[in-house]
Amino acid sequence: MKILVINAGSSSLKYKLFNMDNARVMAGGIIERIGEPQGILTHHIYTKDCKKKIVQKQEIKNHKRGMHLAANLIIDSKNGVIDDINQIDAIGHRVVQGGEAFASAILIDEKVKQAIKDNNTLAPLHNPPNLAGIKVAEELFPHIPNIGVFDTQFHRTMSSKAFLYALPHEFYTKFKVRKYGFHGTSHKYVSRKAATLMEKNINKTNLITLHLGNGCSICAVEKGKCKDTSMGMTPLAGIMMGTRSGDIDPAIIGYLLEQTRMTIKELNTVLNKKSGLKGICGLNDMRDIHKASAKGNEKATLAIDMFCFQVKKYIGAYAAVLGHVDALVFTAGIGENDDMIRLKICENLSFLGIKIDPEKNRQKTSKPFYLHSQDSRVQVWVVPTNEELQIARDVVQILG
Ligand code: ADP
Repeated sequence: MKILVINAGSSSLKYKLFNMDNARVMAGGIIERIGEPQGILTHHIYTKDCKKKIVQKQEIKNHKRGMHLAANLIIDSKNGVIDDINQIDAIGHRVVQGGEAFASAILIDEKVKQAIKDNNTLAPLHNPPNLAGIKVAEELFPHIPNIGVFDTQFHRTMSSKAFLYALPHEFYTKFKVRKYGFHGTSHKYVSRKAATLMEKNINKTNLITLHLGNGCSICAVEKGKCKDTSMGMTPLAGIMMGTRSGDIDPAIIGYLLEQTRMTIKELNTVLNKKSGLKGICGLNDMRDIHKASAKGNEKATLAIDMFCFQVKKYIGAYAAVLGHVDALVFTAGIGENDDMIRLKICENLSFLGIKIDPEKNRQKTSKPFYLHSQDSRVQVWVVPTNEELQIARDVVQILG
């Protein structure tokens, strides 16, 4: 079975074609700078006999043109990985905000598209381009079914005591104000993968999954299902991130609007783009922050300290709500690569049964590995995330 996964952003579109008979990527790529004078299409071929990168630079007026170019490469007589686009069994679309409408992946029809549009107000930067990607696929590949897979769907198992904010109840009923959670596809993938690696049944496994990248979120997974997660109604909530503030006292917003001449729009930009690690030390890439800290930059050291402190607090909180934790699972750019951050987060957690082996922690590999010491009651894993593969799996399940 061949599944194409599409992740459409406002000026970019990522795609991956999977052969689900062996869960391998056949080809994939990214179309960037859509709508600018010079767009870039970077296409990779990953078949057994051919590993190749093709870069095309030209004006790519819109997503449709970009996807058309990518499709041509997928079926190209010389470099193509399939002969005919209709050999693709289905297309899985990443959709960021499914709201309360979607608790699982779904075959897209007019009603589903309308429901995605209805959630635009909750994800104004993401849902419109996601929907645009769906429409492009419908136009270019009219014979292939489209399936929506939502970042929020994994978190739909949260109970009301976890997802409600302590606000007047009509804010929820009238304006849909509640915690939705994000990165759900990543939390789902790494939780399942970790359980497999631990040789445990996911339905009997409790995990704390830590997606630490540019965006960061943590999830308490009880018997395979999300019990709570750190992001909220929007991906601004939870722990501090590269440029996002994470949780702050809500009264700060009103206070700053009064004290500064900022508009609410400007303040939103500050919270999303100029806060988090960047707000504290002026840098948002963790690799740069380590370099600055090593050179004696105190703000960089503070940013690292704050980040690890906040993650540690979530581990404590989620250990408390889960009652029993089988493993911590680190993933995404920082979680997969940054041994110093992992060490600092897990420091002094032996009272929770969490002990890591510094040597195992230092491994550099793109494969999953464990880093707990032999006497650690809780296992600790690094599992590289693979959101596209999880989307393809969800699609196969729907087709099945
Ligand atoms: P996104 O949320 O955009 O998908 P990623 O998961 O790629 O982000 O994570 C980006 C973050 O991961 C950046 O802060 C980057 O510095 C960090 N990162 C990537 N590789 C390393 C590494 N080798 N060591 C430390 N941090 C890393």
